[in-house]
Amino acid sequence: MNLDLEGGRKLATEICAMIKEKPLSELPGSPEVAFFPPFVFITEVLKASEGAADVSVGSQNIHQLEKGAYTGEVAAAMVKSCGATYTLIGHSERRAYFNEDDALLAKKVEQALNNGLTPVFCCGEVLPEREAGNHFKVVKEQIEKGLFWLEKDPFEKVVIAYEPVWAIGTGVTASPAQAQEMHAFIRQIMAEKYGKGTAESVSVLYGGSCNAQNANELFSQPDVDGGLIGGASLKAADFFSIISSF
Ligand code: PEP
Repeated sequence: MNLDLEGGRKLATEICAMIKEKPLSELPGSPEVAFFPPFVFITEVLKASEGAADVSVGSQNIHQLEKGAYTGEVAAAMVKSCGATYTLIGHSERRAYFNEDDALLAKKVEQALNNGLTPVFCCGEVLPEREAGNHFKVVKEQIEKGLFWLEKDPFEKVVIAYEPVWAIGTGVTASPAQAQEMHAFIRQIMAEKYGKGTAESVSVLYGGSCNAQNANELFSQPDVDGGLIGGASLKAADFFSIISSF
């Protein structure tokens, strides 16, 4: 819940102007970029991104059911019909403030895939869980319950974002070693379940106080495929610097 329509449009326009000047395919690692504005700004952000290659738009949430009388909710099909191609699922704020548990998130993943949206499935432990040494167990359970019910083919369409909750919006970033350790673990459990090829093909993003200063070291880790950027994405120059950090 940052920015209004004008602010969101301006931010997307500024970032896309930089991308048009320096296409993503010419940046190290040829990254893809997806913007995740609030539902009400999806159409405008899509318009602002026209002509910027490899830029897509997603929603921050979807409802777990296909359609019906659920006043105030937004269905995956509605998001898709606006032209978006991604959706976040299970951001820690959805888990914490809106009681989204793993069973509900599994239904949201299903809705996303049924409607042609790529789910960016967020997982991550809270600080007491890390301090107790339970972070691997917590993340494994989130991924198993949220995603591992999928057959191999649909699973390969998913993106995973590891976001340690203690690092989100706090300015405390996971160290590159901590990020790599968890990403390697996620890769390993994917390999055990679906095989090495699938484990390597699924993108695992890191999120949590990633910024223009630390992005390069984080993205240099072998199992960190990219980032899910919050606060630092609100400044066009910082965001562009992050996407140039591969
Ligand atoms: C987030 O909101 O998912 C996030 C990663 O935020 P920040 O980058 O500000 O920590």
